[in-house]
Amino acid sequence: MDFQLSPEQQLLQETVRQFARKQLTEAAAEWDRKGELPDDSLVEKCMELGLLGMCLPEQYGGAGQDLLSAVLCIEQLAAVSPLAAAPVFESNVGPVRIVEQFGSEEQKEKWLPQVTAGKLQISIGMSEPEAGSALTDLRSRAELCDGGYRLNGRKVFCTGGGHSGAYMVFARFGEVKGARGIGGILVEKGTPGFSFGKQERFMGLRGFPSCDLVFEDCVVPAENLIVPPGGFASLMQCFDIERCGNATMALGIASGALEFAVEYAKGRSTFGKAICERQAIQMMVADMATRVDAARLLVYRAAVNASSGIPAINETSMAKVFANETAKAVTDSAMEILGGYGYSAEYPVERMLRDSRGWPIAGGTLQIQKIIIASMAFGRRFDQR
Ligand SMILES: Cc1cc2nc3c(=O)[nH]c(=O)nc-3n(C[C@H](O)[C@H](O)[C@H](O)COP(=O)(O)OP(=O)(O)OC[C@H]3O[C@@H](n4cnc5c(N)ncnc54)[C@H](O)[C@@H]3O)c2cc1C
Repeated sequence: MDFQLSPEQQLLQETVRQFARKQLTEAAAEWDRKGELPDDSLVEKCMELGLLGMCLPEQYGGAGQDLLSAVLCIEQLAAVSPLAAAPVFESNVGPVRIVEQFGSEEQKEKWLPQVTAGKLQISIGMSEPEAGSALTDLRSRAELCDGGYRLNGRKVFCTGGGHSGAYMVFARFGEVKGARGIGGILVEKGTPGFSFGKQERFMGLRGFPSCDLVFEDCVVPAENLIVPPGGFASLMQCFDIERCGNATMALGIASGALEFAVEYAKGRSTFGKAICERQAIQMMVADMATRVDAARLLVYRAAVNASSGIPAINETSMAKVFANETAKAVTDSAMEILGGYGYSAEYPVERMLRDSRGWPIAGGTLQIQKIIIASMAFGRRFDQR
C-alpha cells in the first residue's frame, strides 16, 4: 500500500491549487454575494487545463484519466468554492457518467463530445415532491407513444435546473411498481412540454442554479432512452461516482476552512500573543486537521479502488458520510477560531459553513448512507418499507 501521490498527480494537484487560489478566490466571494453562476471563462479555463471531461474516454474528447485525478482537482477547486469546482464535477462525476457507462455507441457519440467541448452540461432529475430518500416511490411517468416516450411529472431540487442543456430524468415506464419499473431518459432543454419551476433560494451554494423540472405531455425521442426500465440498480450504482464527487466537494470545503483558520490563528493576537500560541486553539486545529486527513483517506480510497470505473458502494457511503460530517464540524470550528470575523460575510468562513450544509443532503442523506453502511456491516438488507 502506497499513500504517496505520483509526481504527475502532485503536479496536477499543485497546478489546480495555484489556479484556484490565485484566480478564483476573489470571484468566489462575488458569486456567493450575487448568487450568480460564474461566467463562461471558468469552463474555458478548466478546458485549457485539461480538466473538463478528463475522466471520459479519449475517443469522445476526454483524457481517459482515473477517478482519483478528478477527485484531486475537485478538492483543490472546492477549497476555494464548490462553484469553482462545478465544471470539473459535472463533466467527470456528474450524470454524464450514466451516458458513458450505459449509453449505446450512438448515444455516447452524440452526447459525450459536447460535454468535453464545454458545450453541454447534463443535470440529474431524480427527487420528486413525494420521493426523495424513498426514490422508488417516484411518480414521473414515461409512456411509449408515436415519436418516443410521453413524459409527465415533476422533479424537485435539480442542481443546474434551467441552466443545463440536458437532464437525466428517472421515470417510471409502464405499470410496473417499485424499482423494477424505473429507467433513465435524457431530456433536452427546449423540448416542448418541458419547463422549469422558480429558482430555489438555498442557505448556501448560492450561484448554483436549482429548480423544479416540470414535464407535461413532453414527448422525448426514443433514442434518448439511456437506461431502460429494470436498470434502476445500475443507475444507482453509477450514482456512486457522483457521491464520491459529493464527498470530495465536502472534503475541499473542509480543507479550505482549515487552511484559512490556521493562517488566521497565526496572524490574530489577543492579550499580546498570537492565538495559535493558545492550547485551546491548537487542540481545535489538531482535531480539524485529523478529521480532514481521515476524510481525505476515505475519499481517495474509494476513488483509487474505482480506478476508471464505479466506486464500491460501502467505500463511497463511508467517504460521503465522513467527509460531509467533517465539513460541517470543521467549518464550525473555523468560525469559532475567527471569533466575530468568522460570523462576518467579509470573511469566507461563514460562506464555507453555509456551503457545507448542502452536501450531506444532496446525493442521499447521511441517514440513508448510514443505512447502506449498516447493511454492509450486518451482511443483510434492511427493508425500509
Ligand atoms: C443542495 C442540494 C442539491 C440537490 N441536487 C439534486 C439534484 O441535482 N437532483 C435531484 O434529483 N435531487 C437533488 N437534491 C435532492 C436530494 O437528493 C434530496 O433532498 C434528498 O435525497 C432527501 O430527500 P428529501 O429532501 O425528500 O428528504 P426526505 O426523504 O423526506 O427525508 C427527510 C429526513 O428523513 C430522513 N429519512 C428518510 N427516510 C429515512 C429512513 N428510512 N431512515 C432514517 N431516516 C430517514 C432523511 O435522512 C432526512 O433527514 C438536492 C438537494 C440539495 C439540498
